Amino acid sequence: MSDKPRSPIESGCPDGFQYMHPVMRKNYGAWKFHEHPQPGVLRHVGYSGDEIWTVRVGTQRILDVFSLRELCDLGDEYADGYIHFTIRSNVEYMVSDPAKVEPLIKAITDKGYIVGGTKNSVAMLSHTQGWLHCDIPGTDASGVVKSMMDELIDEFRECNMPNRVHITTSCCQINCGGQGDIAINIQHTKPPKINHDLVSNVCERPSVVARCPVAAIRPAMVNGKPSLEVDEKKCICCGACFPPCPPMQINDAEHSKLAVWVGGNHSNARSKPTFQKLVAAGIPNNPPRWPEATAIVKNILNAYKNDAKDWERINDWIERIGWPRFFEVTNLPFTKYHIDNWRGARNSLNASTHIRF
Ligand code: SF4
Ligand code: SF4
Repeated sequence: MSDKPRSPIESGCPDGFQYMHPVMRKNYGAWKFHEHPQPGVLRHVGYSGDEIWTVRVGTQRILDVFSLRELCDLGDEYADGYIHFTIRSNVEYMVSDPAKVEPLIKAITDKGYIVGGTKNSVAMLSHTQGWLHCDIPGTDASGVVKSMMDELIDEFRECNMPNRVHITTSCCQINCGGQGDIAINIQHTKPPKINHDLVSNVCERPSVVARCPVAAIRPAMVNGKPSLEVDEKKCICCGACFPPCPPMQINDAEHSKLAVWVGGNHSNARSKPTFQKLVAAGIPNNPPRWPEATAIVKNILNAYKNDAKDWERINDWIERIGWPRFFEVTNLPFTKYHIDNWRGARNSLNASTHIRF
């Protein structure tokens, strides 16, 4: 065996420069300014004097091959042969000649796609596609996205919000979907039901016990077979035990609900990061159009649009007016479920009046 270390096998994502529009490649890191001539269109001007025009297009998030080919063909025919995807599942086309912008927009809209999602609009809702490939989904987040974007399409197409709005969804209660000004998340409200006949064949019991964040699962013998039991007083109904042990079924047509959280934001030049707070719980998980959840989101957006000052994100707006006023202007009921009274928090949160550092 050779002493030389094996050279790494490069299997990460390929170098993005090879796919960039040549004007972007040439002016990389040397842009003088950018502006927003109309909704869905950006114009960047480089120190070299070069210009590039970007047209942003919403997609249905989970793309079928037909749509993908159609979008690529549009890029070949109208946009210098380049196409670019954003993290919010939008497609961006770039052209260096302003005369190509209008024909490009016409070709896109003729095919039924929507141009928008820039500046102070409601950007495309983001979600993970867990319904298709993940092992824990409690709902079809893509369906929620589709129904809500159908109702918010004008807010995507136009720039009528005080600042940009990012909305996210999640298909389980524990992982993705927490990075938005508004988040629509699944919320289990009952502990898992255990199918004891299956546990011993399917689950590695120590892994399941270790998975529970509040130590509510214990090994147990049931009907003479090794199984598990859940201390329902401790269980916070998070669903984390379901992926390693599918016989611990927590998804339920009636008791798996949706919840809406608001005010999350990453840190930026002006403010610190903020966490979302729960504002509506127990919303029916009601496919195929989720009307109850959509009505609450539209209500929050309307209140924000009418009351916030220019450039305030949702978290800035709530910080200025205060949470009591937020519940007044949105007419959302404030209930005992909004108070985090989980007893385990005593170990992790500052629950005493003494000053501690
Ligand atoms: S939200 Fe949950 S179920 Fe959906 S993709 Fe993320 S981890 Fe999977
Ligand atoms: S749902 Fe969550 S808290 Fe309840 S038993 Fe499973 S892992 Fe533990």
